[in-house]
Amino acid sequence: MKSSMHATKTGQDLTVTAFGLATSAFTATTLALLETKCGIAVYSFMCWSVIPAGALCAGFAASSGYYLGAKLFHHRPTRLMLFNTISVALSTWVVLNFLRYCWTEVNGQHISQLASFGQFMRLSITNQSIGWVGSRPDDAVGVGQFGYLIAALQVLGFAAGGFFVHWYLRAAPYCAACGKYLRRYSSTTRYTADPGQLAAMHSDLAAALHSGDSSAAVQLVSSFGEAKEKKGMHLSATLKLWKCETCPRQFFESSVRKWNGRDWKAVAGLHMRDYIGSAGPPPAAAGISAVSQPPGTSPVAH
Ligand SMILES: [Zn+2]
Repeated sequence: MKSSMHATKTGQDLTVTAFGLATSAFTATTLALLETKCGIAVYSFMCWSVIPAGALCAGFAASSGYYLGAKLFHHRPTRLMLFNTISVALSTWVVLNFLRYCWTEVNGQHISQLASFGQFMRLSITNQSIGWVGSRPDDAVGVGQFGYLIAALQVLGFAAGGFFVHWYLRAAPYCAACGKYLRRYSSTTRYTADPGQLAAMHSDLAAALHSGDSSAAVQLVSSFGEAKEKKGMHLSATLKLWKCETCPRQFFESSVRKWNGRDWKAVAGLHMRDYIGSAGPPPAAAGISAVSQPPGTSPVAH
């Protein structure tokens, strides 16, 4: 029994890995085509010169197959999967560069006839430009040895994309008994201007979730405050619920946000996220006192 379950798990691991390999190959090919045919090196875009935004997006795209496969087969990523996800994201970077090597032409001649892959990589790292829309290989500004740092940031960006996909799947609500991801079935947000009313509702809510009564929790939130935000309402409470498709297992996330004059900011001490019935003690009084402080400017100007 145990060995057949193990075999199923390994089979799932391999299937999900195949999904990851497919999106990785697709990402590497698309990026290499965009660069060699259109002159747009999407993966080299940087934010504030240090955040490899393009590489991060490429890492996400390369690992998106893992996400799809894992959700489709209700597969919870293992440590081995983390290793697979990150190594595939990194090999996407290598394959991308190899495709660039195969497809780049200089004066009508393939670069592979003029230089080895190693020489091409050294040249393209030390002669790259920090990408911007429309930059072409011939516009590249020599960045010298600094190019290795940029390349290292890109590699990190690709790996981080894979890591985030893994982390997101690990954090997603999951029923271990049925081996299924839970499905979100409800999301309620209400607004108020009254901190006292919010604090009272919140402690009842924590108690209902702790005792496992999800319908009482939904009732508490939906009968509180107003459904639409109105002038002067600087506090909001949100309750999201997930459930298992085959057993009564449920998961919740409850958050309180406060308008600070410019943005709705989550009140840290009042965030709760757990399986219903197994929630820990209600949040500390620090969170409650944060909502009682005076609001910023009203979010809705009437
Ligand atoms: Zn279940």
